[in-house]
Amino acid sequence: MSVTPSGEMESLNFLFGDVDSAAIFARLRSPSGKPPCILEVSYDDVLWYFRSGYVSSMQLKELCDQDQGPIVPTLLALSYASQIYATLPDATVTVSTLDHCLLRTSWARHASQLNDIPLGKPSMTGEPDRSFAIAVIAFFEGSHNIKSKELRNVIALSAGDSIYVAMRLICDPFENPHTYEMKRILGNIGKAGLVMLIPPRDPLVRELDPGRWRFADNPEFDGKPEDCFTQTSLHLSFTSYHIPVLSNEFRGDQDNPVSMLESVISVRDSGLWVADINILDALEKDAPVYRLDPPKRCEHAEDLAPDPPIKTIGCWDDVLDSPDGNFLIKAHSNWLARLAVTAVLPNHSRTKQRRITICPSSVCWRCVQQNFPHNAYVF
Ligand SMILES: [Zn+2]
Repeated sequence: MSVTPSGEMESLNFLFGDVDSAAIFARLRSPSGKPPCILEVSYDDVLWYFRSGYVSSMQLKELCDQDQGPIVPTLLALSYASQIYATLPDATVTVSTLDHCLLRTSWARHASQLNDIPLGKPSMTGEPDRSFAIAVIAFFEGSHNIKSKELRNVIALSAGDSIYVAMRLICDPFENPHTYEMKRILGNIGKAGLVMLIPPRDPLVRELDPGRWRFADNPEFDGKPEDCFTQTSLHLSFTSYHIPVLSNEFRGDQDNPVSMLESVISVRDSGLWVADINILDALEKDAPVYRLDPPKRCEHAEDLAPDPPIKTIGCWDDVLDSPDGNFLIKAHSNWLARLAVTAVLPNHSRTKQRRITICPSSVCWRCVQQNFPHNAYVF
């Protein structure tokens, strides 16, 4: 609250946004010298009116629909964009996006096709995918308008001081986040502009020693959780395949080009290369991946061995040369190794009908039904 030179009382009234970073305020002045009357309606107030039934979201939608104008599609596009940014709390957006008509972007038009009833719902029924999320981020990061279908293979995006990575690449495979969920990591890859990271087509794997035979010696699982993959690490490197991409109509300026960069994620064991992996293909396309339900209450004691017994695998040579039948990979509470194993198995397993079962941190092995003939338990 302050007094202007003409004697008016003046105040700035917060409307919306985040007071600590970016927000919109309205300047209010009162010529009478009394404090200006401030009508405070918060976002929570609006929600309360909707939830209490004082405002009908359906009638509001019908009114908007009658207009046939851009209101509903714009709200819908923004709803989807906010869904994408919900997992990116520290991300910023470029102000130049305000210069462009939202509904001329490919992703906003795609949003209108996903669902047509956005109002009054906490989330939309049509679910966006990862390529949609990357198209949204490319727009808000650099005003680029790129079609989602051109981004199908993209696993991460680098822009400025941010690297946006598919959430599935950096969490335990049991968690199974939505395909559209991305995580922002502070940093850059040392290339100018907006860089889309794509995996190589044919991941490589190290040669096995033809004379080895270890699995016969592998012990049966005793039911106790153990991590035998503590020396496993994942590494990101880039190949020379780096091509420009044209984003249509209102692409960013020449200082902010878009490109695709082939990027290899490698598994190493004690620093030695094991294999290159395509994690997203493995989780989403290559093999049937199941997630074992957490245990229900039962009469069994803790950490009992499975019945019938299951052989265990505790080294990378055995993962690369995994046998038929059931086996269990011991990587308990090691999300990175569990992810690496899950990605390697489909491409480098002899049994093509291999089923991969990701286990929760606690399992009653006596209650596990071993119905499938070729099952790799990742525990
Ligand atoms: Zn049990």
